[in-house]
Amino acid sequence: MSFVTEHEKYDWDDIRLSIYSKTAADVERALTKTRLNLDDFSALISPAAEPYIEQMAQRSYALTRQRFGHTMGMYIPLYLSNLCANACTYCGFSMENRIKRKTLSIDEIQAESIVIKSMGFDSVLLVTGEHETKVGMRYFRQVLPSIKQHFSYLAMEVQPLDTDEYKELKSLGLDAVMVYQETYNRRTYAEHHLRGNKMDFDYRLETPDRLAQAGVDKVGIGSLIGLEEWRTDCFYVAAHLQYLEKRYWKTRYSISFPRLRPCEGAVQPKSVMSDKQLVQLICAYRLFNNEVELSLSTRESPEFRDNVYPLGITSISAASKTQPGGYANDAQELEQFEISDERSAQEVAVSVKQRAMEPVWKDWHQSYSG
Ligand code: SF4
Repeated sequence: MSFVTEHEKYDWDDIRLSIYSKTAADVERALTKTRLNLDDFSALISPAAEPYIEQMAQRSYALTRQRFGHTMGMYIPLYLSNLCANACTYCGFSMENRIKRKTLSIDEIQAESIVIKSMGFDSVLLVTGEHETKVGMRYFRQVLPSIKQHFSYLAMEVQPLDTDEYKELKSLGLDAVMVYQETYNRRTYAEHHLRGNKMDFDYRLETPDRLAQAGVDKVGIGSLIGLEEWRTDCFYVAAHLQYLEKRYWKTRYSISFPRLRPCEGAVQPKSVMSDKQLVQLICAYRLFNNEVELSLSTRESPEFRDNVYPLGITSISAASKTQPGGYANDAQELEQFEISDERSAQEVAVSVKQRAMEPVWKDWHQSYSG
């Protein structure tokens, strides 16, 4: 049993139709509830909810402060390698792109870690392309212990692995794994993943199950907004979250909602999500689930981030470089995607404080678990 079985119960077109047929009465009913089901969530992400965004935002703000206090988790991505054996139509690291490839050595990682640490961060997201032989388990075994010396919270966004491999990485200091399905539409997924292991839709879809079974503290899920009709894809994300929480209640979960950004060989989004709709989505996730962590990256502009993160976001990245070696050297390798918020970590922290919140550099949940 995994989410693959659950996924088969949902028909994409039926869900899409159900979302688009929601009425103001459905939205108002959802807004009176304290425990929302998936049908209520559908109402809140539907076009019928657009006139209610202000009301949703107020509730989302209050629920977020109630659960997470006036805090904002701060993290930074550390790109270890841009090698990739997959061909994804939307990514600058795709194997078909003729770019200079680089994988950081232990010494280079040390240099990056020192710079990142000096910026104030204690929580890092390690990112690699998906290349089983060059940046697979052998590489992770080598680099994780030395990175863990610098940081108390280690998250990874790398190729999906087996349960035993996650267990091993956990013993080396791994705390969290982000594994985005990109799209929950099987046919569209096949259109965008043309070569490599990532073509295996089911193996990727089962990854959060394996992570929770391996006892990894936090699992991040999400879809790449724009690959498919965003409302339907986000319904599946909510369904995935609900499934995971029921089965693996000890695990923490986070959701990200990256919007497609320009990169070399970029595809045009099939469905464009406006800023207002992203606010609607963030608030809908919060009203649906008070516990889930919501993360916003530097793909979004400073103005947008500053206005939106108080409404429901619990962690933000800052000062990100998406090319390996980009912190210690002004590396010229191609970026995975363009950064929109180019402020320094301290500038972002100041903006967080101006909104009466405390930037948290060390993952505060970990201090609870000791
Ligand atoms: S999205 Fe990931 S797997 Fe796909 S090309 Fe980019 S780095 Fe490789």
